[in-house]
Amino acid sequence: MSRTVGIAGAGLIGRMTALALHHEGWSVTLFDRDQQAGTNSCSYVGAGMLTPLAELEKAEPLITEMGLWSLEAWAALIDRLPEPVFFERHGSLVVAHQQDQRELEAFRTQVQRKNTTSARLHELDRRGLAELEPELAPRFARALFLEPEGQLEPRMLLPALAKALQAADVTWHHATPVTSVAPGVLETDNARFDFDLVLDCRGLGARSDWADLRGVRGEIVRLHAPEVRLSRPVRLMHPRYPIYITPRPQGQVLIGATQIESDDMGAVTVRSALELLSAAYSLHPGFAEARILETRVHCRPALPDNNPALRDETGLLRVNGCYRHGFLIAPALVAAVTAFAAGRAAPYPALFHPSSSTAHQGR
Ligand SMILES: Cc1cc2nc3c(=O)[nH]c(=O)nc-3n(C[C@H](O)[C@H](O)[C@H](O)COP(=O)(O)OP(=O)(O)OC[C@H]3O[C@@H](n4cnc5c(N)ncnc54)[C@H](O)[C@@H]3O)c2cc1C
Repeated sequence: MSRTVGIAGAGLIGRMTALALHHEGWSVTLFDRDQQAGTNSCSYVGAGMLTPLAELEKAEPLITEMGLWSLEAWAALIDRLPEPVFFERHGSLVVAHQQDQRELEAFRTQVQRKNTTSARLHELDRRGLAELEPELAPRFARALFLEPEGQLEPRMLLPALAKALQAADVTWHHATPVTSVAPGVLETDNARFDFDLVLDCRGLGARSDWADLRGVRGEIVRLHAPEVRLSRPVRLMHPRYPIYITPRPQGQVLIGATQIESDDMGAVTVRSALELLSAAYSLHPGFAEARILETRVHCRPALPDNNPALRDETGLLRVNGCYRHGFLIAPALVAAVTAFAAGRAAPYPALFHPSSSTAHQGR
């Protein structure tokens, strides 16, 4: 008989883990307080940038290592989904205006100093930039090209994962808040469920059980910008408000994201909108006539070291702290969870919380 797992939270991590465990022969039951569309999750708001080298500016090499592995895994995983998902690997660019060249130099130095992988960033002059992004060359004499990087569209990925889970006959209790999780037991308002293993993937919804979990507010603007023709994500370095611009299908562009130490989920502020939009306009004049389709806010679930963590309580595994890296590292994180659940040696032992020092050896 197959082993049973109950998963609290059907955001990106809950969905991906559910599918992976189903493929490993587990009988999977998912619970989420949201509908299957998942529009209230952090994952729905995330930009889906897959930028393992660029993240080295602030993150630890572990994130880059997981991100590079995940880029390969995404390609295979997305191929197997029952619906198309926008996923590209054309690299990403980093630029700065003349007055902010110090920011670009600091970024380059930091990434090169911390990079322990064979992935490299390349210096481009104006001509090199013109070959990749002709519309940026008039404004920028120099750029950094981060060749392995990519992006995906979370709003295509989440429904595609939902469809794959439905096809797999995974039981999904949507609009069902989980009131408590414990080893082998998950409770909702009016029922108790017993499983061989419970996974807590509730993101910020797990805060009452995870004292040092915090929210980091992120704001994002989605535009229709047919006059901006870019082929890859572009980061604009700036001393106060660095931004990224990610071209999406049908002339859409995502501009993000603020990063504010606050768990305020209120609407985008005027200041943030001005910063994001003026930085975008300074990058490319074609943004002048772009239409604002949407502004969105969510808070990234983060732990004190801004790294993800797995906490084992024998019969209950808590998975959290994806911070600004959920999409970047999800396949690698899920590989660690599934290996652990199966009792195999799990990759990335540093993810396991120190209090469960033997956890990475498997259950
Ligand atoms: C503006 C912004 C931009 C971002 N850009 C990127 C990016 O470019 N690249 C990248 O890699 N990452 C990015 N991120 C981060 C990424 O979105 C997150 O790391 C990721 O979505 C976290 O996924 P999760 O599944 O842990 O949490 P969530 O997506 O929040 O999922 C948690 C789920 O648990 C459910 N839940 C909570 N409490 C309960 C309960 N009591 N009962 C039942 N269900 C419950 C919620 O409804 C939700 O569906 C960004 C985030 C933001 C906010």
